[in-house]
Amino acid sequence: MTDVEAALAQIGAAGLLRELRTIEQTAGGRVLLDGRDALLLCSNDYLGLAQHPAVRAAAAAAAEQWGAGAGASRLVSGTLAQHAQLERELAAFKGSEACLLFGSGFLANTGVVAALAGRGGVVLSDALNHASIVDGCRLAAAETVVYAHADLDALAAALARAGDRPATIVTDAIFSMDGDRAPLEGIVALARRHGARVIVDEAHGTGVVGPGGRGLVAELGLTGEVDVVVGTLSKALGSYGAFVCCDARTHAFLVNRARTLIYSTAPPPPSIGAAREALRIVREQPALVERLRSNARALRAELGRQGFAVEPGEMPIVPLVVGDPRAAMELCERALDAGVFAQAIRPPTVPDGTSRLRLVARADHDEADLVAAARTLARLR
Ligand SMILES: *Cc1c(COP(=O)(O)O)cnc(C)c1O
Repeated sequence: MTDVEAALAQIGAAGLLRELRTIEQTAGGRVLLDGRDALLLCSNDYLGLAQHPAVRAAAAAAAEQWGAGAGASRLVSGTLAQHAQLERELAAFKGSEACLLFGSGFLANTGVVAALAGRGGVVLSDALNHASIVDGCRLAAAETVVYAHADLDALAAALARAGDRPATIVTDAIFSMDGDRAPLEGIVALARRHGARVIVDEAHGTGVVGPGGRGLVAELGLTGEVDVVVGTLSKALGSYGAFVCCDARTHAFLVNRARTLIYSTAPPPPSIGAAREALRIVREQPALVERLRSNARALRAELGRQGFAVEPGEMPIVPLVVGDPRAAMELCERALDAGVFAQAIRPPTVPDGTSRLRLVARADHDEADLVAAARTLARLR
């Protein structure tokens, strides 16, 4: 057996083998998958903007004007006028001095964390942070300290141990697999006391949480208190690519030091055109964000009525923890047969013993379909 075969056998024996699924058709929060029509309950396209006619038209127009690709990295000849325009628009939306586009959220987090957490420093990372932050910490020359999830006492202790070394705290705003919020007010207060830098990843906050979808940092009145806010164009904004909001000095530093910005091609014009239009829609139609929230409330309420351990609220990410990975996969398949597509999420994406269906409500779902899906899941459980 080769090492690859041995690894695959081991993954399979643990019930953790992953395979790609191909969507045959998608529209309006539904999919066709292996000939089965199903409600799409596991997409991060929260507002349905990837399919919005104006967003598609903007992508096509950007391709016509600028071409299919940017042709070079940002520092060579890849920064087109529309990249700079979107950066200004995002900085205004988030209330930051500057903004810098990256190729993806994964690239933004790895690049920013590795650049800012330099030799001789300490980076403090929440135990449930996204894999891209974990990898950013691995690439960073700073020592990494992982603190217990959302635990301010553990963070305070880790900061005390960091002593005089430069400290960087990094956290998801909304945790991607659980939908819970980081205790940002407490984190910012601790950071201020210790002179630490704070990086917050709003991948699931932008377009979802806060006033008009401006994120958790804005909702808590912490704009300007958080040093670096990372966001992605690929979730609520329905496109692809990512951005980093910060002050002008940090922007200049990242342009010089973030390797994933320097050594990777600038995001393609159609993605940027689409994201600009999506951002315009979010700004001009806050009712869309409200619709997402009311759908999330409806989904959560019905799951609660059906006996699932789900809190009421407006957060569209809803984990249904099953525990065993095979049981989670089985429930996922039976739900798909019954017209509900919620991909099972297994380790190492989530901790051992917490395999789950991770449901995500969208603005373009019908409330009645969400209620019916919750009842289907309750029946199959
Ligand atoms: C999805 C996600 C990312 C990665 O963003 P991409 O643009 O998809 O690469 C980063 N952080 C969090 C918390 C995410 O959920």
